[in-house]
Amino acid sequence: MAEGLKRRETPLVDRLVVIGPGLIGSSILRAARATGLAHTLVTTDAHSGVRERARELSLADEVPDTSAEAVAGADIVILCVPVGAIASVVAEIADHLKPGAIVSDVGSVKGCVVEKAGPLLPKSVHLVPAHPVAGTEYSGPDSGFATLFVNRWSIITPPEGADAEAIAKIAALWETIGANVEFMSAHHHDRVLAITSHVPHLIAYNIVGTAADLEEITQSEVIKFSAGGFRDFTRIASSDPTMWRDVFLNNKDAVLEMLGRFNEDIAALARAIRWSDGDALFELFTRTRAIRRNIIELGQETAEPDFGRKKG
Ligand code: NAP
Repeated sequence: MAEGLKRRETPLVDRLVVIGPGLIGSSILRAARATGLAHTLVTTDAHSGVRERARELSLADEVPDTSAEAVAGADIVILCVPVGAIASVVAEIADHLKPGAIVSDVGSVKGCVVEKAGPLLPKSVHLVPAHPVAGTEYSGPDSGFATLFVNRWSIITPPEGADAEAIAKIAALWETIGANVEFMSAHHHDRVLAITSHVPHLIAYNIVGTAADLEEITQSEVIKFSAGGFRDFTRIASSDPTMWRDVFLNNKDAVLEMLGRFNEDIAALARAIRWSDGDALFELFTRTRAIRRNIIELGQETAEPDFGRKKG
């Protein structure tokens, strides 16, 4: 078995349901299959083409046509749909869940899941949201792979008063498929991810858009000389448009707060360049270099440019 995945002697649960077998959902299913996480794997998707592909790839044992059918008898349901679709899927499945079922998700924003989806669920069902901090710029059922979460963090954001046993099960699920688990409030998660993920994506979308709009620089020059830093931005800026639109619409406060701070700091950098303040530039660039070294030391990156982003 692939390194980092933990084969279980007995399944954690009987029925595990993944709604939305895209990059993240199909990776969970592949890892669940490899580790024996559940006795029966079930998946479905709003799109018939995705359901068909899930059947062709044998991602699950059962691929029913609707979410309502899929969740019947489920022990754990993981919603792997875009953040903006989570509440509507919860509304579809709420009446079909058995008492004691656990509903989780993998959305990149957490406050909105607790606020919008929580009230739609019956009291007998446990909501334990999570966010695996792992991914690539690809989407769809073909893009997933079993080792996507190995040595990555999965942040669990249990609402106040959440059931301890349900939280432990979701933690065990992520640990089985190789992730390290961290707990925090949904609010804190959204502020941390705003600066570590959401604002960087916004900057990448912006810089690639600006380069594309600059009339005196041709498209062929942009491509030809992209190795000068731009290429790394284009990778990030090719990430799924639906997913990222939903992230920004659902994490407005934290993103706008971090963007305000970013704007102030970039104005200071512009000032340093205008006034030839080389010391200020050198001091910042030295500090940022050390941050990358720390990330590499913590095993979250290597010096190779495509660490953790290739199919394993
Ligand atoms: P993806 O590859 O596009 O997969 C999402 C799947 O959900 C698609 O098959 C989509 O079907 C389906 N879907 C959309 N609306 C649905 C609905 N109402 N009911 C049922 N299925 C529906 O996206 P992903 O990258 O796996 O992202 C899924 C979630 O993971 C998002 O919430 C995202 O924030 C989170 N996440 C992503 C990453 C990353 O790096 N990509 C990392 C961590 C967390 P269609 O194709 O027909 O729309």
